[in-house]
Formats: sequence, C-alpha cells, structure tokens
Amino acid sequence: MADEISAFKPKTIWEQFRPLRPYLGRYRRPILVGTLMLVLTNATWMLFPRVVGAAIDSLQTSVTHQQLLTYALLLLGIALATGFFRFWMRWILIGVSRDIEYDLRNDLFRHLAHQSAHFYTSQRTGDLMTRATSDLSYVRMALGPGIMYSANSLAAFPLAIAWMVYLDWRLTLLMLLPVPVVSLAVKFFGQHIHKYSEYIQAKFSDLTARVQENLAGVRLLRAYCQEEAESRAFDRLNRDYVAQNEKLIRLQGMFWPSLEVLLGLAFLLVLWLGGRAVITERISVGTFVAFSQYMLLLIWPMIALGWVVNLFERGAASMGRINQLLTTTPDITDRPHPNAPAQIQGTIEFRNLSFSYNGRPALRNICLRVEAGQTVAIVGPTGAGKSTLVSLLARLYDPPPGSVLLDGLPVEEHRLRVLREAIGFVPQETFLFSDTLRENIAFGLPAADEKAIVDAATVAGLADDVRDFSQGFDTLVGERGLTLSGGQKQRTAIARALLHRPRILILDDALSSVDTYTEEKILRRLAEVTRGRTTILISHRVSTVQHAALIVVLKEGKIVEQGTHAQLLARGGYYYDLYQKQLLEEELEQA
Ligand code: ATP
Repeated sequence: MADEISAFKPKTIWEQFRPLRPYLGRYRRPILVGTLMLVLTNATWMLFPRVVGAAIDSLQTSVTHQQLLTYALLLLGIALATGFFRFWMRWILIGVSRDIEYDLRNDLFRHLAHQSAHFYTSQRTGDLMTRATSDLSYVRMALGPGIMYSANSLAAFPLAIAWMVYLDWRLTLLMLLPVPVVSLAVKFFGQHIHKYSEYIQAKFSDLTARVQENLAGVRLLRAYCQEEAESRAFDRLNRDYVAQNEKLIRLQGMFWPSLEVLLGLAFLLVLWLGGRAVITERISVGTFVAFSQYMLLLIWPMIALGWVVNLFERGAASMGRINQLLTTTPDITDRPHPNAPAQIQGTIEFRNLSFSYNGRPALRNICLRVEAGQTVAIVGPTGAGKSTLVSLLARLYDPPPGSVLLDGLPVEEHRLRVLREAIGFVPQETFLFSDTLRENIAFGLPAADEKAIVDAATVAGLADDVRDFSQGFDTLVGERGLTLSGGQKQRTAIARALLHRPRILILDDALSSVDTYTEEKILRRLAEVTRGRTTILISHRVSTVQHAALIVVLKEGKIVEQGTHAQLLARGGYYYDLYQKQLLEEELEQA
C-alpha cells in the first residue's frame, strides 16, 4: 500500500492550479475589491492592541474619565470597522469561489458531453461522478476559504510584525526565532497531505464506481444472489478508504499541534524576556501588553496557515484529477470541408473500409453503396461488425479518412452537427431518461407538437400501449425506462428517432424485443413514412429484412453475400440457412 502511495508523483501546487488562471482572471475585479477589504480588516484590527497598550500606560499616569471614555469609544470604533470590512471580505471572496465552482462545473459537463464513445469505453461513471462532485468541492474550498485565509495570514503577519518592531525590535526578533522551523514543518506535512489526498480521492472514485455499478445492475445482483458477496467486496473497499483517511487524519493531527508548540515556544520567550524588560523598565507595561496582544492576534493566522496548507494540498490533488479530464481533447472533432453541405440527401458509400478496435479488426475491405432513399438491410452472426459499420457512419468512432462517404463527401468533412442531425439512430441498447414518455420521445425537440409526437408513436407501434397507461404520454418511465417492457422501450426509441424526420434512419436490431406480428405492422408503417429516406435495418431475423431493396450479409467483418431476398435464397448460402432455420422455428412454435 505504501508503495502504491509513493508511486503518486504529485505536481507542484502551482502547476496543478494553473488551469484556474482564466477563471480567476474573469473575476479580477471582485477579487481585487475583496482583497482590499481583507487588507482593511487587518489594518483596522491591528490598531486594537496599540490602543489597549496606550490605555494601560495612561492608567499609570493621571488619566481623566474623559480620556478613558475616548479610549473605550476608539476600541468600539475599531471593532465596528473591522466587522464591517470582514463581512464584505467574506461575502465577496467566498462568493467568487462559488462562481468559479459554477463555471468549472459547467465547463466540465460540457467537456464530458463532447467526448466520444471511445472515451466512455475507458472511463467508469462512478469515477467521473467523483471528479465532478467531490473533487470540485475540494477545489472550491481551496479557492474560497483557502485563498481568503492565506491572504489574511499574509496581510496579518507583516502588519503585526511592523507594529511589533515599532514597539520593540529586540522582542520581535526573539519571537521570530521559530519561523524557519515552521516553514520546514509546513513543507514536510504539505507534501505528505498532498500524496494522501490524491490517493484517497482515487479510492473514493473506486467506491463510487462500485456503488454506481451495483445500483445500475441491482436486478442482476438479486438474480444471482450476489447481495452478500457484493456487500463484502464493498466493505473491503470502504475499509481501505477509511484506513487511508485515518492516516491523513493522523498526519493533520500531528501538523496542527506542531504549529501550536512552536507558537507556545515563541510566547515563552517573549513572556520571559519581555517580562524582564518590564522589570528593568526598558519597556512600559502598556507596550508589553500591546506586544503580547499582537502575538495573540497572530495565533489564528498561524492556525489558519496550517488549515490552508491542508486545503491547498487537497484542492491541488483534486484539481489534478479534474485536469486529467479537462485536458483530454475529444478525439472526434468538427473539421468541415469549405464545401460541406448544410443538408444531407442520404447517399452512403463505404469505400474499401477496414476498421479495428485497439488493433483488433472489426471490419475488412467493406465496399457498399446505398442510394438516397433506398432501404438496405444488414444481417449476420453476432460480432460480425454490423453495429460498428453504422456507428462509423454517424462518426461515433472515426473511420479511416475517405472510407465512409455521405453524398460523395467523406463523413469527417461534413459538419458534425449536420451529419448527426441527418441520422436518426436507434441503437441496440435503448436509453431512456427518468422522465415522461413525452419528454423521452421529444428528446432534442422540446417544441415538438402533440400531433407529431402521437404520429411518431403510432408509426413506432407504441400508441396502443400508451392508451393503456393511466397517464398516457405523461407517464413516468422510471430510471432508464425501468417501468416499460423491453419492446416498449425499443418502440419509444424508434418514435424518438422518427420525430426528427431524419434523412437517414438506422435501426440497429431495434425490433428484437417485439413479436413478429407487431414487427410486421411497424415495418409496414415505417415503409410509408420513410419513403424517399435512406433506411438501414440491422437484424438477426429474416422477417425484418426480407422486404429491403438490398440485403447485405456480414460475417467476421466482411461482406460475404448481397442481393434481394429472392436472390440470396437462390444462392443457398448463410442467408438461406438462416431463413430455413427460422422457418423451422416458426413451424415448431405453431405446432
Ligand atoms: P451483434 O449482432 O451481437 O450486435 P455486431 O455484428 O453488431 O454484433 P459489433 O458490435 O459491430 O458486432 O462488434 C464487432 C466486433 O468488434 C466484435 O468482435 C466486438 O467484440 C468488437 N467491438 C465492438 N465494440 C467495441 C468496442 N467499443 N471496443 C472494442 N471492441 C469492440
């Protein structure tokens, strides 16, 4: 474990926080005003001991009631002014940290929303969630209280020390003796706190990812009776997380008392030698009291320094983790050709397309042309590369340049927005938001009218089901559509794609969960509304694809057969076998 921790190579605080510079720059003015308030807070507060000292010295002479009242009123004025400035200092500086947190969170979300499918195959949702929530809070703490208290200490120290030098420079030098030891302690503890913080956040990510995966797969967990086994696995992660936190607490626990001991040492020296200076009448009692009060005023900035180091180190560790996300550039970007059209007609061409996932070939030498308005079906065994082929068309993954063309122009030269808006993609695994059916169908088209939604649902064969729901289109579908059947989810996704009236409609095994009778009805209505639009149907079922103008058979990433239903049956190959097998299944079912 210790090795794992020492394997972390933290960058310096400044390197980690550098990406925050533009955010800080945006709030230059409030930061400046807040800092001015901070300086004024300290400047007024530092007058307090001086007045107390003067009052004590005057007590030893013939002081009048009037003079005493003046001192009292002065102290009251100082306290009021300090309170006023402190309020504005906190309001402005802590407010800025919240504003920066807001900006950073929005940017992070926008950044995540633009990442490609490839990015998400290598990331765990729980880890991303931790970075967007817990890590961001630590950065905010470093920005708000962190900057405010460190600036406060930075202002308090020189002001107090200047007053102390003015009162007695020899005592001041004595008091400053432990300072080099303080800076060594800060450096030592700071480095270790940083390492542990980074490691703890990584552990917290593991923990969150585990919770997220278990909650998402809770049905599976129950079906396989894995509740206890998973609870035990979770317990191990949880224990490790707490153990690392305890180490950090121990470290912090040693840090603060060390600072207090050093401060106590300074007090001891001042009390001993300052007291002697009073006895020998080198300084007055008032001066000694004022001096001690300045020291007391430095206790909080000193403690704050310890706390701030902790905040900065945790914030820097978290900022480093957020940077890792912010610096991953989306690998699928918009680089349109000057002649990229604003509209797409729908002619598709795969030109000698080969594609691999991390060196593992998924498609080999695919040559296929689909005319605009044509319906093409793709069949083939599982893992043949069917989904890969269509995801390259929508640039969910980037194909080799020039190997996938739309209307004669390589897909990478089209505007990404135009390209994706032209394609209505119903993926194999449907995703529904925990919202109403209406919102799910009108996703991306919030202004869609009722008639258009009902029409899309009718074509998708969903309208009859909706009539049976007590709240119709306003029925809530539960998280990821948990309250709908598999077939209803698929049909909701089809309705969503149809509502956009795309030039190209892709159904990737999108009818696998509906019975063949319903499927036939949907396909018939689909054929009517998609007339003139390019349609790609992917399926394992002959019944889905038989009426397509062209049927392509993919096997191990290669096109092995293509033609119409009749041509492929006559050929007696894979398609023929599939047809015979499914015919037999149907007969058996009927029997
Ligand atoms: P199915 O009918 O089961 O959906 P398919 O014909 O659609 O299969 P693809 O999903 O295109 O097949 O997968 C083709 C090959 O690419 C498979 O071997 C699969 O393991 C691999 N593959 C698919 N997606 C990825 C990915 N994101 N990363 C790595 N390999 C992948």
